[in-house]
Amino acid sequence: MSDSERSIFSRIIAREIPATVVAETDTLIAIEDIAPQAPVHLLVIPKTEAYRDVAELAAGDPGLMAEMVALAQQLAAERADGDFRLVFNTGPAAGQTVFHVHAHVLAGVLGEGTLA
Ligand code: ADP
Repeated sequence: MSDSERSIFSRIIAREIPATVVAETDTLIAIEDIAPQAPVHLLVIPKTEAYRDVAELAAGDPGLMAEMVALAQQLAAERADGDFRLVFNTGPAAGQTVFHVHAHVLAGVLGEGTLA
């Protein structure tokens, strides 16, 4: 895959672009979102670029999706009170801009009705 075809998250995972990495496993990386929308706003990202959105991930590798939820829960417990909101923007009309599946983990004090 050429550089222009790889997602920005693949380049972060390869340490070609800087990011604040807060957790890493064999299959996942978690980083701070560069434009936080909540007191805690992390992105949990599979290292594979094989799934463009959560629907593809759920169909193709539900175990990996479960790993994402478990890591989100762990990070929300470490960095906030353990409660968290998980957002998967899915498709351009829903605000997805990076087509490499990622979960927004929002925690801390969240306003009612805040989606991301
Ligand atoms: P949206 O941009 O509408 O939130 P996505 O759901 O595709 O759409 O989310 C991409 C997220 O990636 C955004 O929240 C954005 O702030 C974040 N982001 C983009 N580039 C970086 C980066 N270099 N480091 C950390 N976060 C990033």
